[in-house]
Amino acid sequence: MTDKYILAIDQGTTSSRAIVFNHEGKIVSVGQKEHEQIFPKAGWVEHNAVEIWENVREVVAEALAKAQINKDSLAAVGVTNQRETALVWNRETGQPVYNAIVWQDTRTIEIITSLAGGDLETGGDKYKEKVGLPLATYFSGPKVKWVLDNVPGAREDAEAGKLIFGNMDTWVIWNLTGGVNGGAHITDVTNASRTLMMDLKTLAWDPAIAADLTIPLSMLPEIKSSSEVYGYGRPEGLLQGVPIAGDLGDQQAATFGQAAFEPGMAKNTYGTGCFMIMNTGKEIIPSKNGLLTTLCYKIGDQDPIYALEGSIAVTGSLVQWLRDNLKMISAAPEIEELANSVEDNGGAYFVPAFSGLFAPYWRTDARGAIVGLTRYVNKGHLARAVLEATAYQTREVLDAMEADSGVTLAALKVDGGMCANNTLMQFQADQVGVPVILPVVAETTALGAAYAAGIAVGYWQGEQDVIDNWAEAKRWTPQADESERARLYRNWKKAVTKTLDWVDDDVVE
Ligand code: ADP
Repeated sequence: MTDKYILAIDQGTTSSRAIVFNHEGKIVSVGQKEHEQIFPKAGWVEHNAVEIWENVREVVAEALAKAQINKDSLAAVGVTNQRETALVWNRETGQPVYNAIVWQDTRTIEIITSLAGGDLETGGDKYKEKVGLPLATYFSGPKVKWVLDNVPGAREDAEAGKLIFGNMDTWVIWNLTGGVNGGAHITDVTNASRTLMMDLKTLAWDPAIAADLTIPLSMLPEIKSSSEVYGYGRPEGLLQGVPIAGDLGDQQAATFGQAAFEPGMAKNTYGTGCFMIMNTGKEIIPSKNGLLTTLCYKIGDQDPIYALEGSIAVTGSLVQWLRDNLKMISAAPEIEELANSVEDNGGAYFVPAFSGLFAPYWRTDARGAIVGLTRYVNKGHLARAVLEATAYQTREVLDAMEADSGVTLAALKVDGGMCANNTLMQFQADQVGVPVILPVVAETTALGAAYAAGIAVGYWQGEQDVIDNWAEAKRWTPQADESERARLYRNWKKAVTKTLDWVDDDVVE
């Protein structure tokens, strides 16, 4: 079996990727395709799920062709996905009733405020003890309610049992395993823990919360572990007969791929947003510092492993904003040279609260601000402020994690597209004060999904194989002067206070 391969499908926010891995956990080939980002109004972000499914099929074919193999060489397929992005579709026709509503979308603000009894500051933690999450537009349950409330005929069809819901893992796996012809309507514990509807202790849907959200239970996928055979590639499809055997939300998949299996181990992924996850073992740790309590993974019928998570909405996408909206750079990597054209941030701080602030603040009323501007500030300083924003936000989350868990991190494992930026990674190490470590296989998200699938079918024996395959590529050690490090962070904290309370009745979006 070890001469076979594992295929990971990574259905991400900006693109879908398929990656073939060998038994050493090394990349053999990659297929990748971007999909359209649909912005119908300020604060709304959608994806066309039919386009995404077509792209998934294309990238799978591309990856197999590049590896010069076919489905018979695959031992299993694992799926990982952009979490919280919600889709409602018709189980009889296979057609979505509305575009997928993406995790960054803020249209459910009224729904969540009303669930909180009219005030998110006082009622925002209504379900937190049960589901580990505050009420926020980020999560998928309220998005499903929005579809049922706003798409003509949707509620009647949902109540008649015709419509089903899923995050993108569920959509991809349902289509892979047969779609309208008996596709498996499932999700895993990590994805379910991002809906606002799963009880962390029982790992089952909470009927009372689903009722509050007016979502019929018949719409919800069956909750499975992250590593087991959910079904097989559909008869007429590309992956005919191959076991579909791994399912993890992207950030949990990255944690798995980083071999963070011990309580207290953490990783931070630098992509569109930043997501830090700390494994807390079998313990459910409620956060007092603005973090989420979530599932880390569950292998087959073993005990579930929990995590604390700090989600930051805007990091890499701020670099894109500089590129696309301000046209200050023509490609993301150019920001590094621009940032290095100056010595420091020139006093400028950029708080990218474009969709409010996520962890550790959870303030939907915040909006972005650049503060500290003087005539002196030039575009090099702004580029620096953009990169520094990622590092300060990460430090805030790390501080919250240490406070909640009582664990002091010895090092931070990192991955994701922004890790290519040496200046940022050095500044990050300076800010967090511990080494920042990048693994050889930086595609940890796809890798984690591949490991989950491979473990389910016996291709890998378990976590030890993942640990043995993990290798360090690079490390950045802290070099900053302590007082300077503290001064910058104090200024950042001050900058954050300038963004709060912005959205009120006078702000039209
Ligand atoms: P995702 O999986 O969220 O789509 P990736 O891990 O592919 O994201 O990372 C892409 C993000 O990283 C983009 O937002 C891009 O702006 C940013 N990025 C890519 N290269 C660099 C770089 N050299 N410096 C800073 N940011 C970068």
